[in-house]
Amino acid sequence: VLLIAFWFFIMKRMSGKDGGSGGVFSVGKSKAKIFDKDGPIQVTFKDVAGLSEAKTEVEEIVEFLKNPKRYTDLGGKIPKGALLVGPPGTGKTLLAKAVAGEANVPFFSMSGSDFVEMFVGVGASRVRDLFRQAKEKAPCIVFIDEIDAVGRARGKKPNMGANDERENTLNQLLTEMDGFGSNSGVIILAATNRADILDKALLRAGRFDRQIYVDLPDLNDRVAIFNVHLRNIKTDESLDVETLARQTPGFSGADIANVCNEAALIAARHNKSSVQRQDFNDAVDRIIGGLEKRSKITTDEEKRSIAIHEAGHATVSWHLRYASPLIKVTIVPRGKALGAAWYLPEERQITPTEALLDEMCSTLGGRAAEELFLGHISTGAANDLERVTKLAYAMVAYYGMSSKLPNLCYYDSTGQQYGLSKPYSEERAKDIDAEVSRLINEQYERAKQILKQYASGHGELADTLISREVIFTEDVERIFGPRQWKSRTDEIFASQNEPKALPTPPAIPALPDVSEETDNTPKAESTDND
Ligand code: ADP
Repeated sequence: VLLIAFWFFIMKRMSGKDGGSGGVFSVGKSKAKIFDKDGPIQVTFKDVAGLSEAKTEVEEIVEFLKNPKRYTDLGGKIPKGALLVGPPGTGKTLLAKAVAGEANVPFFSMSGSDFVEMFVGVGASRVRDLFRQAKEKAPCIVFIDEIDAVGRARGKKPNMGANDERENTLNQLLTEMDGFGSNSGVIILAATNRADILDKALLRAGRFDRQIYVDLPDLNDRVAIFNVHLRNIKTDESLDVETLARQTPGFSGADIANVCNEAALIAARHNKSSVQRQDFNDAVDRIIGGLEKRSKITTDEEKRSIAIHEAGHATVSWHLRYASPLIKVTIVPRGKALGAAWYLPEERQITPTEALLDEMCSTLGGRAAEELFLGHISTGAANDLERVTKLAYAMVAYYGMSSKLPNLCYYDSTGQQYGLSKPYSEERAKDIDAEVSRLINEQYERAKQILKQYASGHGELADTLISREVIFTEDVERIFGPRQWKSRTDEIFASQNEPKALPTPPAIPALPDVSEETDNTPKAESTDND
């Protein structure tokens, strides 16, 4: 009797019914979270700001779910799935939730990595289980976040006869999505930020028929997103949403939500009754540059060196046509940086060569100033040099912008072909290296030229920096006079305030997205000494 009682006890524990979550036998069950009609999903399209194109696409999916007959009566098939592609934090999950909220259907949410477990065969079984559950609740939406965890392209070589768990999971997913069994009414939304590495079979029509691009928000979208997140925040009239949106280029929706929250926390810390403009500025600074570290010990000599470096950036960028307009320069250590210059990058879809050269020149301004005015150079420019080298390499090898090797692009957007071998000869490699050095040297000389020309202004700027630690556009303007060129963002705003519509830009194929090189994210140019 004791033995049998013990056996029952063990079996109960293993099947997990004994109050515990999941025993050995439930390992193959899907871990999807279900949000039902009366569940906590109350997200609607109103909560999703901007993203108008993506919204139009998904609104159609809502229509399919609400009114399938309208489409099937004409012989059309309801699409099986849509893939939301875009950088992290741009609102893919939010969009999927809004679809479920609008269509008022159950919503299964899980992440691609939830399929993966150390046991072989578990992934496939979880996929089966997920679809079984979904079919029971149809019409419904299944949302798989980070689908690249399972959907990565299958390898050509079977790896030494081993059973590849991820491939099995993917195969099961493929069959479930377009197998013999019909799963009418189940629409699969998946999100990824790397559509290029997904298996081709997954992307073909009949599975994820639609790819919806969810990009980083532009200026107007950022204003809209700020307005959504400011709804619950007590602000006062000092806040100007438009300026805030202009100060946050390259921010995703999640970053903007973070700024609003951080600003509220900062205001609360200072016992304010409402959140003011300054709190938002501090929040933006903190998110871009990291926490201020006033306690970091820097000697006077180091301080002077950092001031000269940062003033170098400011001076050079002020006198270049395409360099991003300066917002402020500080020599208060922040995050890993010892000093930083804040810029307002332009909202550009395509970047002309001159703009890249100007950016390179202003980035080199720090090192050039050290050499000219200190007489020695330091490790402070390491971060600048890294960026300049990458940019120069991209210009020569990806954008075909060098005079010696024009119109050549060795960038492989599929990320699969070149692998370890290079697609060019040794000779060509030498040419590329030579061109990269030439570009950088030319811009370095140009930066030095500008600094020599405005040496006294630079000195004044550096002195102000040492005494005040932070300087703003106004101070630079006082020293050098107003900047000759208006920023493009200003022009866009000016033309928007006029009654006529904005001219639509001609369709030009986008440059390959080499994130570091075309990244518009606001950069705190760090003098990275750590
Ligand atoms: P991901 O694209 O990584 O799935 P999420 O959808 O999870 O990003 O977005 C994270 C958060 O960012 C959301 O909860 C929301 O608060 C905010 N957010 C992102 N995009 C938007 C947007 N377009 N409108 C409003 N809020 C947004």
